[in-house]
Amino acid sequence: MFIENFKVESPNVKYTENEIQSVYNYETTELVHENKNGTYQWVVKPKTVKYEFKTDIHVPKLGVMLVGWGGNNGSTLTGGVIANKEGISWATKDKVQQANYFGSLTQASTIRIGSYNGEEIYAPFKSLLPMVNPNDIVFGGWDISDMNLADAMARAKVFDIDLQKQLRPYMESMVPLPGIYDPDFIAANQGERANNVIKGTKKEQVQQVIKDIKEFKEKNKVDKAVVLWTANTERYSNVIVGLNDTVESLMASLEKNESEISPSTLYAIACVLENVPFINGSPQNTFVPGLIDLAIQRNCLIGGDDFKSGQTKMKSVLVDFLVGAGIKPTSIVSYNHLGNNDGMNLSAPQTFRSKEISKSNVVDDMVSSNGILYEPGEHPDHVVVIKYVPYVGDSKRAMDEYTSEIFMGGKNTIVLHNTCEDSLLAAPIILDLVLLAELSTRIQFKADGEGKFHSFHPVATILSYLTKAPLVPPGTPVVNALSKQRAMLENILRASIGLAPENNMILEYK
Ligand code: NAD
Repeated sequence: MFIENFKVESPNVKYTENEIQSVYNYETTELVHENKNGTYQWVVKPKTVKYEFKTDIHVPKLGVMLVGWGGNNGSTLTGGVIANKEGISWATKDKVQQANYFGSLTQASTIRIGSYNGEEIYAPFKSLLPMVNPNDIVFGGWDISDMNLADAMARAKVFDIDLQKQLRPYMESMVPLPGIYDPDFIAANQGERANNVIKGTKKEQVQQVIKDIKEFKEKNKVDKAVVLWTANTERYSNVIVGLNDTVESLMASLEKNESEISPSTLYAIACVLENVPFINGSPQNTFVPGLIDLAIQRNCLIGGDDFKSGQTKMKSVLVDFLVGAGIKPTSIVSYNHLGNNDGMNLSAPQTFRSKEISKSNVVDDMVSSNGILYEPGEHPDHVVVIKYVPYVGDSKRAMDEYTSEIFMGGKNTIVLHNTCEDSLLAAPIILDLVLLAELSTRIQFKADGEGKFHSFHPVATILSYLTKAPLVPPGTPVVNALSKQRAMLENILRASIGLAPENNMILEYK
């Protein structure tokens, strides 16, 4: 059964005019490697830590500025939100289609909240805590191409033509601000698009982006802004001692107009200096060590990298299932072909390399979780190929072959073929990223013994369900398995309203 919303009643939970306060007992373990009479043994001690959470319930008016606003993702997301807001429906050859938010974790998925008369009761994910309604977001942003969003939507060839016709009047007047362009960082084939660029030194470019954010907030009267990179994949920038390895070196390099600071890092510096959350939806290493430290110093949320939309999402489900079932994946081969501008940009070796890296590490945590199947340091062969095939446009094809060793030396091969409009997968993920980033800045917590409430670590691991190569603070484990990432997010939000984590035990029926 499905219910729209609910309220928690508990001595551990208090709803005030401004906050939801909860006291939450975190059940965890403490591990000790003990020497008992000359032999070492692992001892596991269950441990309960009391946490307090408080969530500001005032939902702000949110502005979202996209870097690469006129791209396929940017125009698809903007059009999709307008269609939802205006209740637009359109004729396809199959039926009259209504706008929806399918594919969005926050808007279209549910959570189990309990049993009632022998039935499982589910509520919308978004009912957990007060969240911004995506229909209320004000969009803006930058693009190195000056095409208005209506024409950009037509160029993207993602939406049905009847929908495009209805959206055009809303989107014609939306024109991206000039962007920071550096041909050294994206493929040479993007040069033709670059007719809308911020001039000046790198420092002046950062200052311009700060000015743009301020003006956008003022003009649209938004309380909060989030900036998200959905522009072209850049090549990796070199991380060099004295150039970008510390806050000081990065800021000094900015003064010196050093060529190795990428455009994405420049936007991110601007955002961190303005205390505006910055999320990176592409694979490049925007977050060089100096920038991560700057974000930590200023307690400004940063999150990334690379939207986890299609092939990698399947991988982080399938390999988790195989390894969890005691089956040993030994070879994973992934081919993609796509024909949109992203595909054209990725046809250059340096930008492809960024994508290859972010797609490659996604099974590491699952492999290292099973020392019965894998020797220390052993890995399945894992190869990723991406080809540009203009004809298929935004409709990306992904073909995967998983070969595994099964019982008694047997082999099992699974082959997948996945066809989907890439931007229709990415747009709801962008929405979740900005909505959850905003929400997470309203949650404060402290563990027993900690004096003051504080926010989450500025490197937002809470967003990792939505990213291919989750950025984590130094010394933190990376979790790629999709079900674990979802459980982490859901359970933290549940803790904020004093609910136990979903443990699926259903003991009351055993
Ligand atoms: P796109 O090429 O259609 O759009 C990118 C836009 O960014 C273009 O309009 C381009 O003019 C603009 N741009 C490039 N450099 C810029 C800069 N420095 N400043 C401002 N604007 C700039 O690509 P897309 O299909 O929308 O994908 C965007 C990004 O998202 C790509 O890097 C892609 O790898 C990443 N991504 C997409 C998916 C997906 O499923 N669609 C999944 C993971 C990652």
